[in-house]
Amino acid sequence: MKITEIFKKQERTFSFEFFPPGDYLTAVKFGINAGQLMRLSPSFVSITYGAGGGTQSNTFDLVNLFQNDLKFTCMAHYTCVNASKEKIAYDMRVLHDMGIENVMLIRGDKPKNEPLIKPNPAGFNYGSDLVRFVKENYDFCIGAGAYPEKHVESPSMEEDIKNMKVKVDSGADFLITQMFFDNKYYWEFLEKAKKQSIKCRIIPGIIPITNFKQIKKFSEMTGATIPEKIKKKMEPYRDNKKEIYKVGLDLAVEQVHELLKNGAPGIHFYTLNKSSAAIQLYESLSQNFKDVKILFEKSLKPPVTKP
Ligand code: FAD
Repeated sequence: MKITEIFKKQERTFSFEFFPPGDYLTAVKFGINAGQLMRLSPSFVSITYGAGGGTQSNTFDLVNLFQNDLKFTCMAHYTCVNASKEKIAYDMRVLHDMGIENVMLIRGDKPKNEPLIKPNPAGFNYGSDLVRFVKENYDFCIGAGAYPEKHVESPSMEEDIKNMKVKVDSGADFLITQMFFDNKYYWEFLEKAKKQSIKCRIIPGIIPITNFKQIKKFSEMTGATIPEKIKKKMEPYRDNKKEIYKVGLDLAVEQVHELLKNGAPGIHFYTLNKSSAAIQLYESLSQNFKDVKILFEKSLKPPVTKP
């Protein structure tokens, strides 16, 4: 089912993002964690795509597994950096023939150790170019990326929002945000998007900080501000994994409650292929939000697997 069809039925969506595991052992762990999360009946799931290569075919295999064997609406992430138009056209055909109806189209990050993204004469330079090409040639429901604290390469928020507007006008049906830890950035971003007449859903992408090292890593990777309040709460427990996990989860619960109470159109959960934080977060939400409670009740059904 197209995610835009799910929007018609669900005022808010609750989705999980996974990445393809790199080896057998992590694949086994992934299977266990994903299995537990699928019992929460997410509105849809998404599988990331390695812009740098490596696990790209694993993305397609996993998307196929979730969509066709496990019968969950699954969105394939796809990046255009380093890809020719021919390769993109071929891959879109493969996804279409596989029965995939949803794609998250993004440019992809520059390869490590390269100072700048090289323009690709045989392909596309920006997410919006990829979105336009796919919209014009295929019948997918299209998601794209949004950056409440602006994209790290962008000179200003105004510039970034204008580019995002181009992406929506090129055919993106909805947006999912980069992670953020202070909701004020999300609410301000929605206001700015509204001023640019961006009307599609902008779903907040959420990740709980569950270990101390992640704080610096997330912030460097994405440009997301880690509020002083969070740093102060976590600092005393920097060497205490259990306490950091608890504090990080409490903060994420607080963040998500505030988002949903104030009308966010759902939550896209960056699971990092782990299940416990998401399950605990859902449990807490189910006590306060009717739609999450319903998902929880439905989740008593085991997922459908092939005999
Ligand atoms: P774009 O929209 O292409 O923008 C990138 C930069 O270019 C911005 O600074 C923008 O302002 C600027 N820009 C855009 N259009 C123009 C223009 N016409 N002229 C001048 N400047 C312009 N990465 C992966 O490798 N695999 C994944 O699976 C993946 N999934 C993601 C999922 C989500 C929800 C998000 C938010 C990000 C994801 N990423 C993923 C990361 C993403 O690849 C990077 O953030 C990437 O740097 C930007 O991609 P984009 O399409 O969102 O950006």
